[in-house]
Amino acid sequence: MSLKSSISTRYVFVTGGVVSSLGKGIIAASLGRLLRARGLDTTIIKLDPYLNVDPGTMSPYQHGEVFVTEDGAETDLDLGHYERFINHDLSRMNAVTAGAIYKSVLEKERRGDYLGGTVQMIPHVTNEIKGFLRRAAEHSQAHVVIVEVGGTVGDIEGLIFLEAIRQMRKDIGRDHVCYIHATMIPNLRTTNELKTKPTQHSVDTLRSRGIQPDILVCRTERTLNPSIREKLSLFTDVDNNAVIQCKDVGNIYEVPLYLEQEGLCERVLEKMGLPNSTPDLVEWKTLTERTKLIDSQATKTVQIAVVGKYVMLSDAYISVVESLKHAATKVGVKVAIKWILSEDIEKQGAQALLSDVSGILVPGGFGDRGIEGKISAIEYARKQKIPYLGLCLGMQTAVVEFARNVVAMAGAHSTEFDNKTKYPVIDLMADQQTVVEKGGTMRLGKYPCHLLPGSLARRLYNQDDISERHRHRYEVNNAYRQQLEAKGMIFSGLSPDKRLVEMIELGDHPFFIACQFHPELKSRPDNPHPLFVGFVAASAKQASVVGDFESNIVVANSSETSSSVV
Ligand code: GLN
Repeated sequence: MSLKSSISTRYVFVTGGVVSSLGKGIIAASLGRLLRARGLDTTIIKLDPYLNVDPGTMSPYQHGEVFVTEDGAETDLDLGHYERFINHDLSRMNAVTAGAIYKSVLEKERRGDYLGGTVQMIPHVTNEIKGFLRRAAEHSQAHVVIVEVGGTVGDIEGLIFLEAIRQMRKDIGRDHVCYIHATMIPNLRTTNELKTKPTQHSVDTLRSRGIQPDILVCRTERTLNPSIREKLSLFTDVDNNAVIQCKDVGNIYEVPLYLEQEGLCERVLEKMGLPNSTPDLVEWKTLTERTKLIDSQATKTVQIAVVGKYVMLSDAYISVVESLKHAATKVGVKVAIKWILSEDIEKQGAQALLSDVSGILVPGGFGDRGIEGKISAIEYARKQKIPYLGLCLGMQTAVVEFARNVVAMAGAHSTEFDNKTKYPVIDLMADQQTVVEKGGTMRLGKYPCHLLPGSLARRLYNQDDISERHRHRYEVNNAYRQQLEAKGMIFSGLSPDKRLVEMIELGDHPFFIACQFHPELKSRPDNPHPLFVGFVAASAKQASVVGDFESNIVVANSSETSSSVV
């Protein structure tokens, strides 16, 4: 991209005030959708103020899910929202942490790049941040770059990012930047009053860093009446019409439509001197209306168990949850997730916890806590013929279960959990044997996979070759493939050189499929993932819930080729 066109790139900075978990990511993602719906190429970048180089080494309880991009970056879960809302693949250029920024500055210092200079927060660290944003903008070729600053204004860690985005205004011109401050207007229950004071203070703090917001997006339970808007406008110096109300909506995918009505995108375009146009939101609207309609019908509910280790925090499995929702809308049913802590299955038994579900899903994970519970859940799904979908660790444990209980390899295991097992059916990948460092060293990002003709996987995808995203160190041990196959395990997805098992399935079962990759990372509301669609359709059939999805998907062992699966 030429310097000229890179200069004309617009930047929208989104900061957050008052409380964390305000939904800044959804607001940024929604704005991305609204800009794209107007034909403007838009990308979204997340700046995370913590010192980890990336979230890959953090516990899901600390951070929620780790979202993996096509090019194998381990990133914040907000990137998942961005991709799902703008329906566009992002890359490692779309996320950076303070840790990565400091690391790069210190590496430069050691190399002697600053020789003679005293390395300082300003300008060295701020330049590093701005350099990253410019490179990311060029890489994306986007007209508009939305930058979400993680954390809350006032956090010590976030100061340097605020300073960098303040300088950007001077560097690229006032009319090329727009500052959005997302905030919260609490409602005092006792007096039933909306309070603006926390927002006044938060904007004061932002201004003390040299940033005057152009737009406020106010999370609120109740409608902002004209006097509240006037007060917010007066104290924060934000135009009255740029005080955007953001009330809670039932479904996150309604947020773009809601914010469009409230005029968010129009204000952003105005501020950056770009012409407004009518957004094309027809499909998005149809989709959200369809979801709303289905959700209002209790008879459409299908209960699906997610058996995992981090079930107390649904953010740990956010892409799985969203993928189930996308598939449910497509199939025409409503999914109710029954969260099950795998350790509880160890204590209470699978039957006690799973007898009321119509589908069982074991997602990805690490570490041996609750592993036997997952294996029992899979045994139950296999024997009771309940639809099963296994993701990554959910595939590895399915192989362990089959080896133990069908091939009679007593004590079979993954060497991740038992490195002395007699039957190491899951073992460390060859190229992982010498890896010592933990950060960013797994098999990460997209890899091709060839599907077995005639398999359920092949029918679901309706493609011979697929590409999916990975995040793992262990794999099916090829030494046991023959024995597993002889007893009926189908290796329905293999790497092109056939050396890596990427998908397994079982015949003589309504739906039993598992994959080494993470399909949940690629499902979009307007493009649900075929594995999730097949799984939800099979679970609906199991529950005798009638959806309205007609397709060519054939559930295993069905001879029909074009009937409705639900
Ligand atoms: N712990 C397993 C591995 O490293 C599975 C990883 C996952 O589920 N993402 O291979």
